[in-house]
Amino acid sequence: MAHIERFAPSPTGYLHLGHAFSALTAWDMAQDTGGTFLLRIEDNDHTRVRPEFEQAIYDDLHWLGLSWPTPVLRQSDNAPAYQHALKHLDSLGLTYGCECTRSVIREASPNPVYGPDGMVYPGICRNKNLPNVENTAIRLNMAKAIQYLGGADQVNLLSFIDINNGSDEHFLNADQLLDNCGDIVLARRDIGTAYHLAVVVDDAAQKITHITRGKDLFEATKIHRILQALLALPTPIYRHHRLILDDNGKRLAKRDDSRAIRKYRTEGATPQDIREMVGLIDR
Ligand code: GLU
Repeated sequence: MAHIERFAPSPTGYLHLGHAFSALTAWDMAQDTGGTFLLRIEDNDHTRVRPEFEQAIYDDLHWLGLSWPTPVLRQSDNAPAYQHALKHLDSLGLTYGCECTRSVIREASPNPVYGPDGMVYPGICRNKNLPNVENTAIRLNMAKAIQYLGGADQVNLLSFIDINNGSDEHFLNADQLLDNCGDIVLARRDIGTAYHLAVVVDDAAQKITHITRGKDLFEATKIHRILQALLALPTPIYRHHRLILDDNGKRLAKRDDSRAIRKYRTEGATPQDIREMVGLIDR
């Protein structure tokens, strides 16, 4: 089977050492297996993306020694594919329109549970039958999705492989999906399709076989797995790797410009130095 890896950054800031680790790990794997490394620009959220950050992604990755087939898939060019998937879920009766603002959700959630998609939605609009129109968000009705897939017993048989430490198989848990993820957002009123839906549609369209990304997305993979089941899409193999932390042990964020690849570049570091910094080669 062809081995196809992807690195899928969002151009909302400069790439930092954590991104370098992900991209290099995926790249090395593709090289070792004679596979393909793809770059995808996840620029769905037009409220946060900036063209200079996209250009910086190309520059920094080239500098690191990576290359990829062009043109790259940019999510902003791919809206019809996401709409198609959304319509399909809608036609199965699994979605609903939601007009709640964040503050309405907060007020209705005295003891909020935070899952991979933020605060678990308390279901305010679930039975309102709001039309899926432009000024509403669209949510997945998780309980109906589980029913559609044959009920909790069937959903609990769905799994994905994480090859970070060996080859562990992780099973979904219907109760956990309901309690910790709930009715996730599939499309937002301001940006159109949300991350989870776009990512599974793109991974399938690009025939990705292996997804290398940080441990911080491990819980999100459960959402991706159920969306793959609902949309009858294949499930790639995942590698949720360790995170690169700052000196205080915190995960790097895009605002950590102090760890930006381009900062090290301008200070005279070499790509080899970056590999050392992220622990891919011994110092
Ligand atoms: N675009 C996401 C990010 O920059 C990564 C998505 C993924 O690897 O699935 O955090």
